Amino acid sequence: MKADIDLDIGQKTFASGLLPELIAVLRRSQPGDLVAVVGDEDSIGPELETWCRFTGNHLLEARIENGRKRWLFRCGAVAASAEENRPVGSRLWLYTNFDCNLRCDYCCVRSSPAAPRRELGLPRVQQIAHEAIGLGVKEIFVTGGEPFLLEDIGEILRACAAAAPTTVLTNGMLFTGPRAEILRTLARDRIVLQISLDSATPELHDLHRGSGTWARTREGIKRARSLGFRVRLAATVSTDAEAEEFRQFLDNEKVAAEDRVIRRIALRGSATEGVAVARADLVPEVTITAEGVYWHPVGAEDADLMVTRDIFPLSEAFAAVRRAFDREGEHANKLARIFNCA
Ligand code: SF4
Repeated sequence: MKADIDLDIGQKTFASGLLPELIAVLRRSQPGDLVAVVGDEDSIGPELETWCRFTGNHLLEARIENGRKRWLFRCGAVAASAEENRPVGSRLWLYTNFDCNLRCDYCCVRSSPAAPRRELGLPRVQQIAHEAIGLGVKEIFVTGGEPFLLEDIGEILRACAAAAPTTVLTNGMLFTGPRAEILRTLARDRIVLQISLDSATPELHDLHRGSGTWARTREGIKRARSLGFRVRLAATVSTDAEAEEFRQFLDNEKVAAEDRVIRRIALRGSATEGVAVARADLVPEVTITAEGVYWHPVGAEDADLMVTRDIFPLSEAFAAVRRAFDREGEHANKLARIFNCA
């Protein structure tokens, strides 16, 4: 991301003169300006993140560029969008298994073929769906790892769709054989397939997700559409330029606005670069895994995003997330629209 102000701090740290430089930058910046801090001391990262949180600025990105560390923060708050004002609990996320047929290098929950299956399981999904009906849940999102690895994914999706319109996040590579049969049995008017496709051509997608995956995903998208499913395409990108290129591709493919998701790589899970994102940056979207209830699907295995281990009663789990949100003093600055996972 290009900055409005570049600040080269050399080897300075908070102990050796960095703070006055940051204050001087703030004095000459406008709200919304992007400031890039480039330096040689890795160690200032956590302190810079804390400083940003205390001063109401927002750390967006931490990466290595030309062998040096570069942090990017935005000055001041941004106005909350309508999406960010969505009531807590109106969206419910379920992580069904965590294992995956792919090993994407930025996976925010470290899914892979080697990741142990941590299954939410059909009985719990059925209970969650049953209890969700009375709790104002408007949409359910089912994610894996890769949910179509599960033999009972059909029953899982049917249980969810009976409670609320359901979107299943998938890499779209398993829609053959028995899985194609499962797809045929699902209600097209209640279930949307959100398929991950990162780029218009194979290079970038395959770079992150593995050789040959772009072509197989394109095939899966075609198959899903031919079966009559609404397909939403979701790209995970590193830069504005990648996002823009993908937007042009979606324009050419005539993909409707509501069927597009473009989000940044989050510095969570397997990612080594991306936008550093903390709990205070995210509007909570109740997320349930085999381990418990989390604040948001980005980082749904990270201790700082866990709210409670107790899934049931679901009303209490929702209340716990709402209480945590009320306690969170910094939610004026939100990056939720950057991590619009669906
Ligand atoms: S990003 Fe999705 S497809 Fe890739 S490893 Fe993670 S869960 Fe699997």
